[in-house]
Amino acid sequence: MNSHKVMVALDNFKDKASLDSFLENLPQDLPIVKIGLEMFYRYGPDFVFQVKEKYNKEIFLDLKLHDIPNTVAKSMEALMDLPISFLTVHLSGGKEMLEACQTVRERHNSNINVLGVSYLTSLDKTNFNDLYGIEEEQIPTYFHRLFSLAAQTGTQGIVCSANELPLLNDYPKLLKVCPGIRFSDEVSKGLVGDQKRVLTPSEALNNGANYIVMGRSLTQASDLSQRVKELNT
Ligand code: C5P
Repeated sequence: MNSHKVMVALDNFKDKASLDSFLENLPQDLPIVKIGLEMFYRYGPDFVFQVKEKYNKEIFLDLKLHDIPNTVAKSMEALMDLPISFLTVHLSGGKEMLEACQTVRERHNSNINVLGVSYLTSLDKTNFNDLYGIEEEQIPTYFHRLFSLAAQTGTQGIVCSANELPLLNDYPKLLKVCPGIRFSDEVSKGLVGDQKRVLTPSEALNNGANYIVMGRSLTQASDLSQRVKELNT
């Protein structure tokens, strides 16, 4: 059942009532939800406990921590009592920062999977050129560096676009989590929003994603149960 590998991103709700109503109607077939910066800043840690207790969902806290090692370690410590299974940090924070995350994890909660964000799925070759002055053919080398850093530091997994999964064959132990997912009819109509490196759920899972992150395709679906059926066919 593919829907069990979907992490539903709880973004873009106009108010708490519509968020609660979405959670109440979210099928058990979708057991993992992602709480990101938007909802965490708005509703705080209490919301994480509520989602766990009231809706019995597994929680991916996508806060994309990125700062000097000491600050990230202390921030992560402050999150360790939350009922979460996954937490994101930016791989570009560097080796010492990633090692500091593993030290906190070992000391406080070794059940948490720390996921290293590689490059955001909203970046394309023009952005890579603007940011790093590199041409398209050099982009895979940049990804390799980050993936290798994740593996070296014992980080549990990585977040990348499903387009990059073929570059991850050398890293079988890393959990692969892929956002930038759209249903095929959305791709053909160009309904991808701000995402640029986009694949469909089945393409991503066939490429080796352990989990796929889906936000607007589900949270703004006119018929959510039909979309869940599509995920499972
Ligand atoms: O609505 P959509 O499916 O585009 O949502 C994707 C989710 O995945 C958002 O919550 C976004 O913050 C997150 N994400 C991403 N790209 C990354 C890491 C996380 O789109 N590299």
